[in-house]
Amino acid sequence: MIRPALISLSLLGATAALADVPRVATDIPPVTSLVAQVMDGLGAPESFLPASADPHHVTLRPSEAQALAGADLVVWIGPGLMPGVAESLPALAGDARVLELSAAQGTERLPFRQRADFGAGHDDHDAHGDHADEGHEDHGDEDGHDYGDTDPHAWLAPANAAVWLQVIAEELSTLDPENAATYATNAAAAQARLAEAVETATADLADIPSHDIAVDHDAFQYFERAFDLHAVLTVTTTDDAQPGPREMAEIQERLANAGIACLLVESEASARQLRTLGGGEIGFVVADPMGGWLDVPVADLYPAMITSLAGQLAACGK
Ligand SMILES: [Zn+2]
Repeated sequence: MIRPALISLSLLGATAALADVPRVATDIPPVTSLVAQVMDGLGAPESFLPASADPHHVTLRPSEAQALAGADLVVWIGPGLMPGVAESLPALAGDARVLELSAAQGTERLPFRQRADFGAGHDDHDAHGDHADEGHEDHGDEDGHDYGDTDPHAWLAPANAAVWLQVIAEELSTLDPENAATYATNAAAAQARLAEAVETATADLADIPSHDIAVDHDAFQYFERAFDLHAVLTVTTTDDAQPGPREMAEIQERLANAGIACLLVESEASARQLRTLGGGEIGFVVADPMGGWLDVPVADLYPAMITSLAGQLAACGK
């Protein structure tokens, strides 16, 4: 008689633990990937954005607002990436805890780049007003809303992903202490996968002849820094502003003359557009900063994005 009683008790225990797993809403696929790895075996995060949404321009529709309202925890990059969501998100998230990854302690933040920062030789500081060279590092720390000077694509630094895996595990453990050991184990496993991906990517990019690349959308600054690449030219800016006619003419001239081995573009459409400008000498890598070209389960997306991006750039530069 004792055995069945014990079995039903442990079943009850398991059910209770599952029922307490927090509902997590995430923004972009790389963040969903990090959270999915930490929640492995317990639950899965749900993105509050459509997979194809462009975070720079997205606003929330009522259906997406519902995903936020039902969440216990919202994990997102922050207002710098999604200015159209920044105002409404705190209210829509209701009682949910909101984890703003770009504001997490230990996150590396790089200053917003202007087109002129690539050495194009003009001083057209248009979209973002004056940018002095000093003082960027300390912005955005305190309230997380002074985001104008920080490049928001911080997930493309694997070191930031490593910091965030830890923070995500801690947040989940606070909400769900019963499963804290699982979150910690999962985060450690994710760290190991991440370290392996970085090792592979570093090896792939170590012996390419030139580390100079050009980018369509200026979203890869963190990746460049992590892997010793150097973008010498960008087409659109960090906040995805399109070039004007004068800038486009300059870009065309530089593409034809800068000896760039490889141009990183976000879509086949922009590859076609830019191919005509570059004189046919330039190799193209089609890869967006969300890992959108990958066909893998979302938990695998982050490490796959790092290795695939590095592998493609290495192949292109050879
Ligand atoms: Zn972007």
